[in-house]
Amino acid sequence: MTPESAPTPIAILSALPQEQRGLIELLHSPCRFRHANRDFWVGGLHGQQVVLAVSKIGKVAAATTATALIERFGARGIVFTGVAGGLGAGVEVGDVVVATDFVQHDLDASPLYPRYELPLYGRTRIDCDAYLSGLLYQASCTALAGGFLVAHGFCHSRVHRGLVASGDRFVCGVEESHRLRDLMAQAGHEVQAVEMEGAAVAQVCLDYGVPFAAMRTISDRADDSAHADFPNFVETTASPYARLIMREFLELLSSR
Ligand code: SAH
Repeated sequence: MTPESAPTPIAILSALPQEQRGLIELLHSPCRFRHANRDFWVGGLHGQQVVLAVSKIGKVAAATTATALIERFGARGIVFTGVAGGLGAGVEVGDVVVATDFVQHDLDASPLYPRYELPLYGRTRIDCDAYLSGLLYQASCTALAGGFLVAHGFCHSRVHRGLVASGDRFVCGVEESHRLRDLMAQAGHEVQAVEMEGAAVAQVCLDYGVPFAAMRTISDRADDSAHADFPNFVETTASPYARLIMREFLELLSSR
């Protein structure tokens, strides 16, 4: 089988390899393709033909993966799962943020363009696909109601919807995260979470006209202890939780 001969898949994009691993184990008839210095896994998952990929960390790496998913694997939609720092008031570790739209917090071509604006795009924020995001939100709420996070000690977890900011920087300081949140709020952008890839994938999907949705489990508050328990949280909590959400999401997609 070549990627071109396979049925059109929905892409599930993870930021880190440990987030992808559990999904590969669930694939029916898995097929691995090595392309652009990355592994892509094609197969069946909860009633859907899927292609699994790791974005790697940062905007450029994520854009390369997204482009390959569309150009080489014919992805008919891309869904991103990963972790992020909570920036919005009340967005706490163990919560989930389903993105409504994305902005690049480190993009600054001023004074040629207003700060945060994407040069030559005439826009600052990129909307996620309403249909896929709605399913992702529903899937996240169903997974939350299943009690997985409570069993992991997160008794008050909530699912939020809102703006997510991406940039090539792991934000890990109270002062830095407050400055980022306040600066963006002054420009009219109420950011709920910060991460390093989503806006790049959103931009690639906008260019190709491919629907995009994203969810992030909050791993830290982007403060001074953001780096402390990160690997442990990703392994024990965020990754299995994202798998539950993906199962709900793909089953919802199959039932429509
Ligand atoms: N030591 C880690 C490095 C992860 S970098 C490892 O390689 O295993 C952080 C990842 O989590 C990125 O994919 C980013 O999107 C997300 N992330 C989580 N918290 C973040 C924060 N506070 N600021 C920026 N990105 C964050």
